[in-house]
Amino acid sequence: MDSFEKIASLAKRRGFIYPGSEIYGGLAGTWDYGPLGVELKRNLKNEFWRSMVQLRDDVVGIDAAIVMSPKVWEASGHLESFADPLVECKKCHHRFRPDEIANSKSEAPNPKQIRNSKSEIKNKNEELRCPECGGELTEPKQFNLMVETYLGVVEGEKLKTYLRGEITQGVHVNFKNVLSSTRVKPPFGVAQIGKAFRNEITPGGFTFRSREFEQMELQFYTKPDEEESMKWFEYWKEERLTWYLSLGVKKENLHFKEHAKDELAHYARAAFDIEYRVDGVWKEMEGIHHRGDWDVKRHQESSKEDMTYFDEETKERYLPYIVETSGGVDRAALFLLIDAYEEEKLEGGDERTVLKLHPKLAPYKAAVFPLLANKPDLVKLAKTIYDDLKREFMVTWDDRGNIGKRYRAQDEAGTPFCVTVDFDSLEKHDVTVRDRDSMKQDRVSIKELKSYFSKKLE
Ligand code: ATP
Repeated sequence: MDSFEKIASLAKRRGFIYPGSEIYGGLAGTWDYGPLGVELKRNLKNEFWRSMVQLRDDVVGIDAAIVMSPKVWEASGHLESFADPLVECKKCHHRFRPDEIANSKSEAPNPKQIRNSKSEIKNKNEELRCPECGGELTEPKQFNLMVETYLGVVEGEKLKTYLRGEITQGVHVNFKNVLSSTRVKPPFGVAQIGKAFRNEITPGGFTFRSREFEQMELQFYTKPDEEESMKWFEYWKEERLTWYLSLGVKKENLHFKEHAKDELAHYARAAFDIEYRVDGVWKEMEGIHHRGDWDVKRHQESSKEDMTYFDEETKERYLPYIVETSGGVDRAALFLLIDAYEEEKLEGGDERTVLKLHPKLAPYKAAVFPLLANKPDLVKLAKTIYDDLKREFMVTWDDRGNIGKRYRAQDEAGTPFCVTVDFDSLEKHDVTVRDRDSMKQDRVSIKELKSYFSKKLE
């Protein structure tokens, strides 16, 4: 099994992630987060918000609408860029316009053939392979990544628009609103977390490529000065990598990949990806892009609204440059699960599967057990402790099976601590606290349990 399969199996078994609409046979590219997954994702988003907004004086937050005027997508270039017939490599997911492949492969069919007939590609051109990696190609499709939707009730008068393909534009259209309603001025940033939708033709790799997913982004506005904006670009690159490291991602599994000039998106002047290594293959986790003044300029031209900033001190008026950091919440959650996953051989020949998630991200911080479920005194004391702890931490209760089974279940859930109430607890007012990673056990006084966890979870 590869890492994606292992995590998919554990995720379903333990309630992290289920296939979307499963009882109806599923809906490709959609996923539902279960009781543990929703906690993991929420913790991840809270950490993002804390580091990007709460702890900073130069970043504010926003939560823009998912459905925006279709004019936004015209201005941003999304409608235009994705309107061609495209084929996509099933392996590396690069997409190609048919004429691009025709140029790079002498035996390739002419673009018209591809455009006009699916069967020709299937039947006569099986040789046609991805020019990048030699992978198999999908059939050509009139390919628009944007997910269409319709607003309004009267048939024939409905407004055709789109579910946002990236959360970015909701920030840029509000650039002037944020400036006039807060005290920020460039250099400053606007952070956002929210859903995005893409009609990916080959969703896959568990949640890696989904059709509905969440992004966590920063749009950072600077003076339109090459040197200054590049300084911020370098700064944010490092900040974002450091953030993933602070969440416990193994250093050897992270690196930067620079986009070559011919790989840059239509808006980008410079771009690096933070990539994560899964089973020896580097995959994109987050993009850091220098967008120049592309977005604000396009929205100014299209809306005819003045999008410039006037600097009262220097009396300069300008369209700002934008440095963007754009990460996927689901993709990061997936990589964090893969990174935390370990199968360990224990003394005595036993094995365990454990998720060594950073305590900040773990769905439950502790699990509370009465040693025996049929001893009312133990259950009562354990319940009191559980009720007390849950006011401060996300905790869970388990009184099924034996202690060994409960430990295994919590190891797979990534719970950093297990608290067991035993007969000694009734006499000595203390409990056993077992550490997930070292499996060592401490005896901790019930009175001190909360501060013990606060320290450990810091
Ligand atoms: P890819 O090359 O993998 O399709 P992208 O370069 O199109 O990604 P961006 O548009 O830069 O991605 O989006 C920023 C981030 O959003 C990505 O780094 C990724 O974490 C996340 N993301 C993008 N598309 C998807 C998707 N289909 N499913 C899950 N996450 C996604």
